[in-house]
Amino acid sequence: MTLQTLDPRAPWVISTHDLGRRPGSMRQMSLTLPAPANLGVEMIGVPVGADVELDIRLEAVMEGVLVTGTAQAPLRGECARCLEEITSETEVGFQELFFYSAEDAAEDDSLLDGELLDLEPVFRDAVVLTLPLSPVCSEDCEGLCSECGVRLADAEPGHKHEVIDARWAKLQGLVPEDNNDQES
Ligand SMILES: [Zn+2]
Ligand SMILES: [Zn+2]
Repeated sequence: MTLQTLDPRAPWVISTHDLGRRPGSMRQMSLTLPAPANLGVEMIGVPVGADVELDIRLEAVMEGVLVTGTAQAPLRGECARCLEEITSETEVGFQELFFYSAEDAAEDDSLLDGELLDLEPVFRDAVVLTLPLSPVCSEDCEGLCSECGVRLADAEPGHKHEVIDARWAKLQGLVPEDNNDQES
């Protein structure tokens, strides 16, 4: 828990002004916010600045403001097997209690800064949990050919390489004869 001063102009900083502090008062909102930077894991994430669609409910409770919501965000990444670009979407749910006072809150709890709360860390934690460490372009992606590196989904069906013994390769003319005889 860190006491921080929030910038009211930051996109993910939400004002609870209209809510008041009366327990039970509630406010719903739908908003579109730009995705923050560095939101992802190694191979997939939400592109910075992409539209994140949020539906949230702010609810005044005794100790603070309870935020419950869902967020939809686009994802961009790379298939862990064939390295093809992947675009998809994630939808996450989250709930966080923002405490009025640090005295009521534990070490990891979130705090209001006056009437402001910062939704970004809540959204960030929710999204990162849903991201696959090994994203795939499709469940049955066969990856790349271990011999030539071609993407197997793009190759002829049954793509494979004849494994030819080096001695036979010579006879088949696949490997040029050495021309020592002619040169000497
Ligand atoms: Zn793939
Ligand atoms: Zn191959």
